[in-house]
Amino acid sequence: MTSGPHPDPAAYDAGPVAALRRIAFLLERRREDTYKVKAFRGAAAAILPLPAEDVARAVEDGTLTDVPGVGKSTAKVIAAAVRGEQPERLAELERTHAAPLASGGVEVRAALRGDCHSHSDWSDGGSPIEEMAMTAIELGHDYLVLTDHSPRLKVARGLSAERLARQLEVVDAVNEHLGGESFTLLKGIEVDILDDGSLDQTEEMLRRLDVRVASVHSKLAMDAAPMTRRMIGAVTNPLTNVLGHCTGRLVTGGRGTRAQSQFDARAVFEACAEHDVAVEINSRPERCDPPDELLALARDAGCVFSIDSDAHAPGQLDFLSLGCERAEDAGIDPDRIVNTWPKERLLAWATR
Ligand SMILES: [Zn+2]
Ligand SMILES: [Zn+2]
Repeated sequence: MTSGPHPDPAAYDAGPVAALRRIAFLLERRREDTYKVKAFRGAAAAILPLPAEDVARAVEDGTLTDVPGVGKSTAKVIAAAVRGEQPERLAELERTHAAPLASGGVEVRAALRGDCHSHSDWSDGGSPIEEMAMTAIELGHDYLVLTDHSPRLKVARGLSAERLARQLEVVDAVNEHLGGESFTLLKGIEVDILDDGSLDQTEEMLRRLDVRVASVHSKLAMDAAPMTRRMIGAVTNPLTNVLGHCTGRLVTGGRGTRAQSQFDARAVFEACAEHDVAVEINSRPERCDPPDELLALARDAGCVFSIDSDAHAPGQLDFLSLGCERAEDAGIDPDRIVNTWPKERLLAWATR
């Protein structure tokens, strides 16, 4: 049947796993609800270990939905891809969801070699470590720093020292399987800055990591004077490399809005410059942190920067372009952005 209102589906030869992963990626980078995305990631994981001929037979027999993790809509995607046709859902998302997230910052984005802030399902991310790494490779990154949360952030299942130690073994294993010359998953943490400015992980564990992002996640509304002391306490800690989303503000999105924390930004950024701590440009659309005027202040204070995705799902690794656009607008030289540096330079800088 070649006539009728619908054109023939486009040829598609990447296979069902790639189709499901691409759909999930496109949904995630536009921050669609996780429950929508989960079906596609789950189905990809379900059929990945199956021999291709078994999947093809299940398509023929109409028994795909018997595979645990495959539902009606994901079965349609798999069936089309197995037949060598572009799945309808994928074609639709390529039309509606694939446009660049930002129009500016193209040169800065091209200069980035990696990302210093990302989460896996070990804390509050939605995907396994290896899926984050795979997607980072597909985005052309040379490195991705895995920075799951620290113990005090219980709502995000922050990692105890013991769990972090186990995670480091998993990172080694992922690098053995996926890495090589061109990509490294780096060991990191997003460590809570406690009320007194100390860091929420043992010094021994912090020392075993490659890159440490320190962020305030609690008591964001404390008075400016103690908040300034708290942040400077973290910045002057020789183990801190990046000051994460410094104001804590939320400008949009499902979690509602939140005002920025009050602190002496000039003093904090001067401490960052003095102690060679990067000020994070957090690319998440709902954070967009620091605000423009603070970004200019940090630039004039002589700080270096890290443009981070703070991805909690693989597709969100693509948020980086939003931060790149802001860095360009603020006139920040790419050489002052630590994740434009080759891995060796980044590691040398982060090792204190
Ligand atoms: Zn955070
Ligand atoms: Zn984070």
